[in-house]
Amino acid sequence: MIFSRPLLGAAFLSVAAIAPPAIAQQSSTQLDGFAALANEFVFKSLAFSPSAATQTGLHRYTDPRSKQVLALDEMLDDYSPAGMAAQRAYCVDFRRRLGMLKVGRLDPQTRADYDILQNAVGSAFFSMDGEQFYKWKPQTYSENLGSALFANISLEYADKNTRAKDLSARLEKIPVFVDQAIGNLTASNDIFRRVGIESIDGVRDLLKTTGADFVKATPSEARYSAAEPAALASLDKFTAFVRDDLPRKPQRDWRMGSANFAQKFKYYLQVSGTPQDLLHSAEDSLRVTRATMLKLALPLHAQWFPGHHHATGDHDAYLNAVVGEVMQRIGTEHSNRDSLVQQGMKDVAELEKMVVDKRILSLADFSNLRVIPTPPFMRGIYGVAGAVFAPALEPNLATFYWVTPIPSEWTAERAESKMREYNKYQMLRLTVHEAMPGHAVQGAYANRVTPEWRRLLRSIYSNTPYVEGWAVYSERVMEDAGANGGDPVKMRLNGLKWMARIYMNAIIDVRLHTMNMNGDSAVALMMQDAFQERPEAEAKLQRAQLDYVQLMTYMAGVHEWNALRRDVQAREGNRFNMCRYHDTVLSYGPVSVPTVRRLYMAGVRPTVNPVPSRC
Ligand SMILES: [Zn+2]
Repeated sequence: MIFSRPLLGAAFLSVAAIAPPAIAQQSSTQLDGFAALANEFVFKSLAFSPSAATQTGLHRYTDPRSKQVLALDEMLDDYSPAGMAAQRAYCVDFRRRLGMLKVGRLDPQTRADYDILQNAVGSAFFSMDGEQFYKWKPQTYSENLGSALFANISLEYADKNTRAKDLSARLEKIPVFVDQAIGNLTASNDIFRRVGIESIDGVRDLLKTTGADFVKATPSEARYSAAEPAALASLDKFTAFVRDDLPRKPQRDWRMGSANFAQKFKYYLQVSGTPQDLLHSAEDSLRVTRATMLKLALPLHAQWFPGHHHATGDHDAYLNAVVGEVMQRIGTEHSNRDSLVQQGMKDVAELEKMVVDKRILSLADFSNLRVIPTPPFMRGIYGVAGAVFAPALEPNLATFYWVTPIPSEWTAERAESKMREYNKYQMLRLTVHEAMPGHAVQGAYANRVTPEWRRLLRSIYSNTPYVEGWAVYSERVMEDAGANGGDPVKMRLNGLKWMARIYMNAIIDVRLHTMNMNGDSAVALMMQDAFQERPEAEAKLQRAQLDYVQLMTYMAGVHEWNALRRDVQAREGNRFNMCRYHDTVLSYGPVSVPTVRRLYMAGVRPTVNPVPSRC
């Protein structure tokens, strides 16, 4: 759907606030006008996507004009021509009203919110008229549907009986939803069809297993069973359509081309520069990263594998051999297969102490953070770990750092291979990224943003490079503060290996979608230059073919965060205080990083609930 946000995206936990009080210099009538507009957009756009609404914590919506109350948790997204036309009409009208605002009179913070609304509306038009995945990507529907059903099951927004009723109501609406999908799909390609069918299989499986288990022994069990056959039959019809009918319709290349890429880059990333700028920067950074890895690996290689490899004419092959062997050896330092979750808990506790002792930032109460094993039904998506926050509208729920245990049925060999990859250094880095002080801490700060409409707007339309870039940036901050598993060189090598992947993701994304790179070359490049194994490289290729720009998020984000830190430090000289800097930039909430830069450089204070600083 036009407004859909990803399942379990950035949302926040509730803790007391931190940064100094805000300066709001706006006439109250003007603020009321803008606040009302922003508020309306947040709720109206969620109401257009019941799937996203449940995930965000909006359960009922009262239409301001008709006073009709929508029970969003029981509804599916409306992809009918009339439903899509209503969304378009709303966007047209909203854009008109937004255009009537006197932008020059907005204070800098409200101006940032205005930019978010402009970007959200522009992005909705691009999705409707430019990208148009709803016309040619079957997965659009199966993912939207699966997320909606799964939200009823996994999010504890109400008691189980209520959610079982909601789930059963959604189940009854699947045949209509599938007919809308079939009516809209007018083109495709091999990859979209293949993955679409797999994704429909996933929804079918969800209905038959997780969903059926969930409603068992609730008052809705019979209702669910009664609706299940028609729902399954419609999914079969969808599969048959994608498999047999869609191939006869026009083909459309998964390559999005430069024009679409540039548009999505603008709306989704909101960073400075162009895709080509980032590509060149990624290629340069990858070269430097590889050279640094070789330099750090050589002494270890000489010590562990004396007389092994010698520099030859093929420098890349030599580099890969030396670094590869050293990384393999470092990989043997890992916890045992049953103790990954305990490792996560231990790392979180140590990192918390370090964040507090070294004054990385002011936040010191992390009691809302729980480290738990990833729930079984989420282990397909979160293969290693993940951070999951309370929905934006229900911020009082806990924040979770999920660590995925190794399945007991895995062979020793398979387990060992995963443990080598996620050795103690990589696990520590991952825990910094997901939790401390990466995503979980960033979410805690974002939850302090005031007033409420601003907090909601900035969280629901959060900027992904801000979120992921902060997490990657914080890895280096903590490493520099001494979080290195007891060995700075081994830690650095693991950090560099991860950065090589981030750069490579950006490189293949631009090259595949805008420069006609073929899939085999992408796989070869990943294996040759970024120390990736074939299965991983092939999976990454598929991800790159299914979406675009999204793979650049980490690179784009950390690039902006690093540049901002460098520039602020250069400007402030020995007045620079890292703790105060982190408090401030995190307290703006997840706006685009160039917006953070603009606000920070102009000395604009964040609007937040204040608590004493420890800086
Ligand atoms: Zn992340």
